[in-house]
Amino acid sequence: MANQERPVGQCCLCGDITRLSFEHVPPRSAFNNDTVFLAEIERLLGHDWWAEMDKVPGKRQQGGAGQYTLCEPCNNKTGSWYGSDYVHLARRAMPALAQAAAGEVVGVSVDIRPLRLLKQILVMFCSACGPNFVFPELARYLLNQESRELPPGHDVYLGLYDRGSRAARQSGLTGRLELGNSQCVYSEIAFPPLILVMTVNSPSPDPRLMRVTWFNQFGWRDRWQQMLILDCLQVNSPYPASYATREEIERNRSRRLQSKAVD
Ligand SMILES: [Zn+2]
Repeated sequence: MANQERPVGQCCLCGDITRLSFEHVPPRSAFNNDTVFLAEIERLLGHDWWAEMDKVPGKRQQGGAGQYTLCEPCNNKTGSWYGSDYVHLARRAMPALAQAAAGEVVGVSVDIRPLRLLKQILVMFCSACGPNFVFPELARYLLNQESRELPPGHDVYLGLYDRGSRAARQSGLTGRLELGNSQCVYSEIAFPPLILVMTVNSPSPDPRLMRVTWFNQFGWRDRWQQMLILDCLQVNSPYPASYATREEIERNRSRRLQSKAVD
């Protein structure tokens, strides 16, 4: 898009009000280059969403998922510093996804620079959460490539996206009240082949997600050749961090419909 057509807004990293550039979330070379369908999922909430999911209105967006969220310098800097390690992980995870089924645990062998991968994921979350979320300490950490001053309270988790999933999701910070438990505050990006979750001062919304915040212990140049052990999780509902399988959803739904019929 020509420079003068780009929207003016607040950059989700540095906070400047300026012309924004399109930030692909996930990066374009991580299988995010095709037309995506942006469903108006809020129309589903509170309804029989499982039955209505294929009819929900929305619009097509060419060239991949993402938004005008970052100024050009922030987009270029973080993309060139951190993007390739995320792309590497996505390319290693995609073949694993082709073999795994929901509920299985899968090893994905990677050769990454963990600090860069962690920072790429956090940049994506800054974009997903929008400018109202900007935490200055987090932005400082992300805009200094070698910084290891990850603000306390932020955690990042990974899962493998199951190929039987019915949806892809991206959510800003969401709260969920656990019965008899503390509240979870998190943001999620679920896009094949990976599920990413960031929590803020909060436990993990699902014990099957693998915590990778310790990637922050690595230096800017440090490599890590290992097997990442990930749970394969199905993404079906409009509710972030819900990994119920199709069978589980259908079982619950028919139970609910039956009890309604009895009423
Ligand atoms: Zn910026």
